[in-house]
Amino acid sequence: MKIWLNGKLVDKKNARLTVFDHGTLYGDGVFEGIRAYGRRIFQCQAHVDRLFHSAQQIRLAIPYTKQELVLAMEETVKANGIEDGYIRLVVTRGEGTLGLSPFRCPVPNVFVIADQIALYPKEMYETGMAVIIAKTVRTSSRMLDPAIKSLNYLNNIMAKVEAIDAGVEEAVMVNEHGQVCECTGDNIFIVSGGQLLTPPPEAGILLGVTRGVVMKLAGRGKIPLAEKVLYPDDLYAAQECFLTGTAAEVISVTKINDRTIGQGKVGPVTQKLLDAFHRFVRSDEA
Ligand code: PMP
Repeated sequence: MKIWLNGKLVDKKNARLTVFDHGTLYGDGVFEGIRAYGRRIFQCQAHVDRLFHSAQQIRLAIPYTKQELVLAMEETVKANGIEDGYIRLVVTRGEGTLGLSPFRCPVPNVFVIADQIALYPKEMYETGMAVIIAKTVRTSSRMLDPAIKSLNYLNNIMAKVEAIDAGVEEAVMVNEHGQVCECTGDNIFIVSGGQLLTPPPEAGILLGVTRGVVMKLAGRGKIPLAEKVLYPDDLYAAQECFLTGTAAEVISVTKINDRTIGQGKVGPVTQKLLDAFHRFVRSDEA
C-alpha cells in the first residue's frame, strides 16, 4: 500500500510521523473521510472545502492548495488501484513541544490513505439497523463546534462504546438541551407526517456531505424536507428513520433503544432515497 505523505508517495511501512506530532499528543488536527466510486472521488470539492473550513476554525494553515490536495488524493487512489474505496485525508498540527501551544508546531503533516471500505453488513441495508440513544452528550458548539471535523473524536468514541456495549453499531447523540443532533459518525433523518426532517446546524452537528446530497435528492424527488429541532420522542414516533454518512451511505434504522420504528422495516421514503443515492454516486454529477 502506498501512502501520500507530505508531497510524496511512500510505502505504508515508511509512512511514519513523530510521537511529538500534536495530532498524536492532543488530537490537534483535522481530517476528511471520502469515497471513491468507479475511481472518481465522490463530492471532492465539498470535502476539500470542509477540510479547509475545519482547519481555518482551529487556526491551522494547510501548506497545500485545494487543487494540490485533490491531485494528492487522485494520485493515491491510482497508486493503490482503488476502484471503489475510501480515502482518508488528514492534516495534523505537526511536530511541536510537549506544551499545548499550536504555534510551536511550524509545519503541519499532511497525508492521504486510500483503502477498501468496511461497510455495515449487507443485510443491515435490507432489514434496517438497530441503534441506541447514547447517554454521552454531544460536545456543545460552544465547547468544540461539531461542524469542525477534528482529530479529536473522543466524544463520539465514548458514545460508540455505549453502542458496542449495547450490541448495536451506532448511537444517536443528543446535545446539552436534549435535542437530537447526530450519530457518532452519521447524520440522522426521520420521516414524520409525510415530511423528511433532520436536525438543523444549530443543534450542533457535522454538516455531512452525504446529508447534503440526500437533501438535494429529496428536493428532486419532491419529498417535503425541513431542518427541525428533534427530540428522542420524535424519533420513537417517526414513520421512518435513516442515517447518512460517507461510510454508511444511506441506511435505514428500524429500532432505537429496543423500540420499533414505523413498520420495523425499510420504509418507502428511505428506499426511494437509497435508490436515488446509489444512482447518483455513479452519475456524472457525483
Ligand atoms: N457526523 C459525524 C460526527 C461524522 O463523523 C460524520 C462522518 N463520518 C458524519 C456526521 C457524516 O458526514 P459525511 O456524510 O460527510 O461523511
